[in-house]
Amino acid sequence: MATPENPMAYLLELSLRRIERERPEIANDQKYAELKGQLLQDADGHFREIQATYATVLKTQCNCGGPLEPVDHDFGRSGGMIYDSVVAKCRSCGSTQSFQFPKEGFISEARSAMALRDYLQRTYGVDYAGVAMSELQRRSVGGS
Ligand SMILES: [Zn+2]
Repeated sequence: MATPENPMAYLLELSLRRIERERPEIANDQKYAELKGQLLQDADGHFREIQATYATVLKTQCNCGGPLEPVDHDFGRSGGMIYDSVVAKCRSCGSTQSFQFPKEGFISEARSAMALRDYLQRTYGVDYAGVAMSELQRRSVGGS
């Protein structure tokens, strides 16, 4: 499930492993195990949605008949709605189109991540978001 091909789940699991090393008592916490399982499952579901959207982009042809390739991932909030889309560019004529993602996976993942973060904060005083961010920065600066 958490492989380097799914970077988000990989990062989540890495950060949780670090917290588990620092706070060994977490190993016996059923509630933690449950929240973690749910988050990793939702991260995987979200990842599958992204993969499916990319597969759709690659199967779609441009109006000119040329092949499309995903070039960007647009992610944000517009008028209170969270949106998530892939921007694809035609390799022949260079025109771009965007493809909307289904939103369920993203919303479930975000909800599970917040539930786990709140629980860790409340029960152990651990800042999970901070650990995940520092893990991300460490990895982008120092390589593996
Ligand atoms: Zn084209």
